Amino acid sequence: MTELHPIARLPDDWRAWVAARGERAFRAGAIFRWIHARGVTDPARMTDLSLALRGALSADGLGPTAAVGVVRQSADGTRKLVVTLGDGAAVESVLIPGVTGKHKFVDDADAAAADDEDDEAEEAGAVRVSQCISTQVGCAMGCAFCASGVAGLKRHLGPEEIVGQVLLAKQLLRPGEQLRNVVLMGMGEPLHNYDATARALRLMTHPEGVGLSSRRVTVSTSGLVPEIARLGADVGGHIGLAVSLHATDDETRSRLMPINRRYPIATLLAALRAYPLPKRRRITIEYTLVSGRNDSPAEAKKLARLLEGLPVKVNLIPMNPISASTLGPPDRARVAGFQRVLTDAGYSCFVRKRRGDDVAAACGQLALEGAAPKVRVDRS
Ligand code: SAH
Ligand code: SF4
Repeated sequence: MTELHPIARLPDDWRAWVAARGERAFRAGAIFRWIHARGVTDPARMTDLSLALRGALSADGLGPTAAVGVVRQSADGTRKLVVTLGDGAAVESVLIPGVTGKHKFVDDADAAAADDEDDEAEEAGAVRVSQCISTQVGCAMGCAFCASGVAGLKRHLGPEEIVGQVLLAKQLLRPGEQLRNVVLMGMGEPLHNYDATARALRLMTHPEGVGLSSRRVTVSTSGLVPEIARLGADVGGHIGLAVSLHATDDETRSRLMPINRRYPIATLLAALRAYPLPKRRRITIEYTLVSGRNDSPAEAKKLARLLEGLPVKVNLIPMNPISASTLGPPDRARVAGFQRVLTDAGYSCFVRKRRGDDVAAACGQLALEGAAPKVRVDRS
């Protein structure tokens, strides 16, 4: 990786940085906390640091790497943020408020991250917010039903830009809202940008920073087998894993997801079996239902058989239509029928709710709209 942006530095990196400048070691933690716990990236606002140190931080390039261009609020409370990066490129991130209280979650973004047990004390009256973030501008994987895939890869995000979306979102939380879950299900394939993603995961789960619990952070992947193993080795399975399967035979999957030609279904499922999942945790299997392509009752049965013995829950996603493709979702009855087969086979199976449709905020369908972002807050 090229030289780390200051926002991408972990406390150990800051310790080396302050030592090189003859500063006392505890300053390292103070700088990290300013950035990651308080969300302050302007050195001028780090008022308990000396002027000389603030000057050194500025000279080193510390400053925001991203700004929120447009916030669109949906009638259901979902907020889509268009995040403008330093070079003018834009990615999208979605904030999804859940419901108050224990053991209740309203959709897949929560369900993907929250597991069965919730042993943390819940702040009374808090509204849990889930955030969906992007890891690349566009995506190289070329899935047929996906706006990012059709756009192709423009560039990778740096770790500072990935965690930067979380820092920005925290500034936009309303009183009583708590950021609880982060899912890497926005634009891009997180494991194709492995190093930046892994560092961003370490940054956002560091207890002195944003402090997210690692089991409430979920990486969604189209199935890059070597990187699934690498992630398992690096984080010991503690970060949630969601895998986009979308088909039960290689021919169909390759047609929908070209990556299947490199890592076919059997290879992918073997990687999931080998993933060092902690006890009681489950992998989320994402299955985007595309009318006439992968949505038959026979395929539901085949999916149930394929997943036998794997610690999984299944998340069905009726495809959101995109302008670049004629593919579309099945009707409700077919979705319900597919779900019933899996439920009857004993799987925990949710249908992803279409939240934020009116602001095109469907997670994983973050279109590159092309318009130059303006600072604007839309409240519908
Ligand atoms: N690249 C990763 C994560 C981002 S996509 C992955 O593919 O898993 C997150 C999820 O949204 C994936 O399951 C993806 O298949 C799904 N998705 C993408 N476009 C979609 C669309 N138009 N309708 C429904 N789901 C879509
Ligand atoms: Fe990339 Fe995921 Fe879209 Fe496929 S579904 S093109 S992997 S973002």
